[in-house]
Amino acid sequence: MTENFNEIQKRILELKKEKKALILAHNYQILDIQEIADFVGDSLQLARKSEEPNGYEMIIFAGVKFMAEMAAILSPTIPVYIPDPAALCPLAAYLDAEKTRAKKKEYPGVPVVVYVNTTAEAKSEADMICTSGSAVEVVESMGVDRVIFGPDSNLADYVRTHTNVEIIDLDPDGLCYVHARFKTEMLDELKKKYPDSLAIAHPECPLEVQQVSDMVGSTGMMANTVAETDAKVVLIATELGMVQQLQKRHPDKTILPFFEDAICRQMKKHTLEKILDVLENKPEENLVTVPEEYVPHIRKILEAMNKLKGQGPAAKVSVETT
Ligand code: SF4
Repeated sequence: MTENFNEIQKRILELKKEKKALILAHNYQILDIQEIADFVGDSLQLARKSEEPNGYEMIIFAGVKFMAEMAAILSPTIPVYIPDPAALCPLAAYLDAEKTRAKKKEYPGVPVVVYVNTTAEAKSEADMICTSGSAVEVVESMGVDRVIFGPDSNLADYVRTHTNVEIIDLDPDGLCYVHARFKTEMLDELKKKYPDSLAIAHPECPLEVQQVSDMVGSTGMMANTVAETDAKVVLIATELGMVQQLQKRHPDKTILPFFEDAICRQMKKHTLEKILDVLENKPEENLVTVPEEYVPHIRKILEAMNKLKGQGPAAKVSVETT
């Protein structure tokens, strides 16, 4: 089936096998990268795939840096490379450990749950960690009346509306610049044309967008919903890479974004050429490391999160050629 791949994809697929490399790609990657990946999924699904995968000698993680750091922590014996080390999530950069410490001082004894979209330093201050697909379950697993939660305040709103646990914002201004741009008016317009469509939104979207959507969930949950729905038209509020993946997987359905340029520029820093360079040269600057002092605690909370029920398995969308 290699005839469907371009030359650089074919070379990556050959080298991937030769070098025993596992390529993990986030749902927001360009389709060319999704096609050569071993697994494509959301951050929870990819974190699970990162736990000491058998038979591999290197992991290439096409996602933003904090995701690759999770893989490096969960798989300490296998080197993890990121195709472009400058792929940094601005939301993750937003929360520093000092802010977290100040909040803990303000609410002594209240546990802190951080979204995975945080730096290793901020995670080291947290009692537990969650992804968008596991946030409600993680918060409820704490067994307390209130938690400090952040940094994404829209995800905090989502959790607030799905649990009786009181949610104290770690940072009320923390937002994803891509998802914060979605508006209810975009859906109103689309619904005029497609009244029987199903609208799906990511919980990083503003609460009012969540409230007018038929389903709210992580990109992994979106994939399951689209696979199962009878709706012929599905409207999606998340980054464009996910929409393109769903369009490819479901040619029988009309799958439309709320708006066309919901693009995460950081996720899109990765290219096939950069992946090939990692496979050929293993550049030192692309090797992902986490300061040793943070590793034991973050590993403990990541493993605890991975043990929760969460959601279904990572989607396999690449065509098997090996
Ligand atoms: S889509 Fe938003 S939260 Fe996700 S990596 Fe990009 S900036 Fe960060």
